[in-house]
Amino acid sequence: MMQELLESMLEEHRHWTKMGAVATYIPELSKQDSESLGICVYDLTGEVYHAGEWDKPFTMQSISKIVTFMCVLQDNTMDTLYKKITVAPSSDGFNSIVNLETKNEHRPLNPMINSGAIASIELVKGKNVEEKYERILQMIRFLADNPSIEVNQSVYLSEKETGDRNRALAYFMKSTGTIESDVEELLDAYFRLCSVEITCKDIASIAALLANDGKSLRDGRELMSKKICKTVKAVMTTCGLYDGSGEYAVSVGLPSKSGVGGGILAVSPHKMGIGVFGPALDAKGNSMAGVKLLESMAHRLELSIF
Ligand code: GLU
Repeated sequence: MMQELLESMLEEHRHWTKMGAVATYIPELSKQDSESLGICVYDLTGEVYHAGEWDKPFTMQSISKIVTFMCVLQDNTMDTLYKKITVAPSSDGFNSIVNLETKNEHRPLNPMINSGAIASIELVKGKNVEEKYERILQMIRFLADNPSIEVNQSVYLSEKETGDRNRALAYFMKSTGTIESDVEELLDAYFRLCSVEITCKDIASIAALLANDGKSLRDGRELMSKKICKTVKAVMTTCGLYDGSGEYAVSVGLPSKSGVGGGILAVSPHKMGIGVFGPALDAKGNSMAGVKLLESMAHRLELSIF
């Protein structure tokens, strides 16, 4: 029943891919097929359902920010976090610079936008930036239950070559003392984390873990604390789709995180984890068809948390 539903919804919504456009500001991402669309669902009994291009690899981009955030929450108290980064929604784009100067005592508004994610890496445990990066990459593999996850080198190099907006954010934060590490090293870790290659199945698996309050679907073991899962889902709900988060809360109503690679990780608490991929984006950087697909699914299955 779920399988048929996914297949029919996917074909019903594929035409939305034509209304969006693949990201071009990272040249390598512009090579993606804009008409791709895939979905994978993990229910909490461990059953997996999928349709469309669910196994086509794509880069995590901002979806990696939630795993970085989980590591930050494991390694810090909320008070330490709030000294550097808050959890306030932003009404500006994901790479906006203006708030860093004018608001919030130079702290990034939240860890789901670029400035917040770059600053978050520094808060992860590790002797140096390389160790912090390794800890986050290992956490992605662990939570997705896929040890073969790797960085897509072409996307990484493309980001590194063209990531001047992120450089501007990071150098500004260094000038205000928000970050202390070597800026290029920190950015290098950030670019590599954005370029981690995954499939809908990998992100559905991470989403299912969040849906299950951090407990493994396989044996009930606690892989992430319930408290951290709760915090991450709250911040995903308020900040996960950048400045589109409010509208998305109304139309879909699920804690989610999008990335400019076209992925959306969506959590239906105590029901299922969902991974969607559709690289044609809307004006805010969210998957155009992906959001429509999730909207329709949330409506048909009454998934909204509100
Ligand atoms: N690597 C992308 C950037 O830094 C991530 C943006 C995103 O997915 O929102 O611009």
